[in-house]
Amino acid sequence: MASLNRRQFITAAAGSLILSVLPENATAAEVQKFVAVRYWPANAYTRVTLESTLPAQHAFSVEQNPQRIVLDIKNVKLQGVLETLPAKVLNRDPYVKKIRVAQHDRNTVRIVMDLKTAVEPQIFTLAPVANFKNRLVVDLYPASVADEEDPLMALLQDYRRGDIGSDGSNTHQKHSSDDILGDKIQDILAQENSKKSQGINHYQRKKRRIIVVLDPGHGGEDPGAVGPSGLKEKNVVLAIARETRQLLQAKGYKVYMTRNEDVFIPLRVRVAKARSVKADVFVSIHADASERSSARGTGVFALSQKGATSEAARYLAKTQNAADSIGGIIEKVGNKMVDNTLFDLTQTATINDSLKLGKIVLNLLGKINKLHQGRVEQAGFAVLKAPDIPSILVETAFISNPIEEQKLANQKFRTQCAKTITEGIDTYFRQGAALRG
Ligand SMILES: [Zn+2]
Repeated sequence: MASLNRRQFITAAAGSLILSVLPENATAAEVQKFVAVRYWPANAYTRVTLESTLPAQHAFSVEQNPQRIVLDIKNVKLQGVLETLPAKVLNRDPYVKKIRVAQHDRNTVRIVMDLKTAVEPQIFTLAPVANFKNRLVVDLYPASVADEEDPLMALLQDYRRGDIGSDGSNTHQKHSSDDILGDKIQDILAQENSKKSQGINHYQRKKRRIIVVLDPGHGGEDPGAVGPSGLKEKNVVLAIARETRQLLQAKGYKVYMTRNEDVFIPLRVRVAKARSVKADVFVSIHADASERSSARGTGVFALSQKGATSEAARYLAKTQNAADSIGGIIEKVGNKMVDNTLFDLTQTATINDSLKLGKIVLNLLGKINKLHQGRVEQAGFAVLKAPDIPSILVETAFISNPIEEQKLANQKFRTQCAKTITEGIDTYFRQGAALRG
C-alpha cells in the first residue's frame, strides 16, 4: 500500500468499509500510533504512561469482583508497543497484579488492569512537552491512606484535591506530621549518639531533634538530566540523598526524604512535605546539565524573590521548574491566596538563612570538586518556595560533562558529596542557626 498515492488508495479501497472511516484529508501522518509505554510501580502510586502521535481517545471504568480498571482506547489497533504492556508488570507493584490487552472491537483496544487492592485512579492526557509526544497517564493511588508513618501519601491526596498551594501550604491540615513509631526509634538512636558525642548536644537544644528534609530531584517519568553515557540524574541524586540521610541520622538528626523510590513527586508536594514535617532545613539534590559538554563544577542555589542573580541561574530555575510538566501533573486552577505582606517578611529572613546555609555547603563542596561559580546563586526555584524553611538546591556536578558524569557514577564521589552535604548542614546548626518553633 505504501507505493500507492492517496487517489490510488481510495480507488483500491472503493466499495469497502474502510473508506467510511477515513477522514476527509487523512494522511499517513494522522494515523494514531502508540510509540512508547512506560510503567513506574511505586509505593506512593503506580503510573502507566502510554505515549502516542495523537491525543488518545479513551474511556475507563472501575470494576469489582475482581477489582480492576478497564480502559478503552478508541481508533487504534492492538500492535507494537501496546502489546508489550502485560510483560512490564512487576511482582513488587503494590497495586497492579496483572495487565491484559485485547482488540475489544474493530477500533478499540481494551486494557484491563487487575488490582491487588482498592485504588483511586487518576487518568488524564498531557499535551506534547520536551521530548514527549501526547501522553495518556494512568496513576493508581491507594484508595485509603492508612499509613500515617509518612505524610507523603496523604499530601499527594490533598494535592489531587487542590488543597496544596504553590508555597506548599496545605489548607487541609488534618495530617499529624509525627510518626510515632519512627519517633521512638529515632529518639533511642539520638540518645545513643548523644552519649557518644562530645560538647553541647545541639540536636536537642530545643528539647527536640533538628529536622532535615532531603529532596532527591526528579524521579519516575522525569529522569532529570541524562549523561552522555546514559547515566540518569534521578538515580544518582537518590543514591546521594540516601547516603546523606544515613550520615545525618548517625549524627542525631531526624531526616525525611521527599521521595525514596523511583517515583515522580510534584514540586509543590515536595515543599508541602517539608512544611508538614516542620523541617528546619530543606536540601534539594541535583546534577546539572548544559548544552556545552565542557561546562563543569558544583553549584549551590537559593530562592530569589526578585530577579535571578545571573542568566545561567534563571535558565537553571526554568529548566528545574519544568519538572512538573515533564513528570506530568494536571495543573489545578484557583490556588489559595496567600497574605503577601506577611509572606515577604518571613521569606526575606528565610532567604538570608538559606544563603548562610548555602555558603557553608558551597565552600565545603569546593574541597571535593571545582566550583561552577564562587558564590551561591539565586533564582525563582519552585522547590525552594517554602516561606519559612531555609532551602537550598545543590547541583553536585555536571552530568552532561563526560568527566563529571564518570565522577557521579563513582561511589567514592557520591560518598564525598553525601559527607560534605552532611558536614555543611551540621556546621550550619553548630554555628547556632535558629530552629523553627
Ligand atoms: Zn535536576
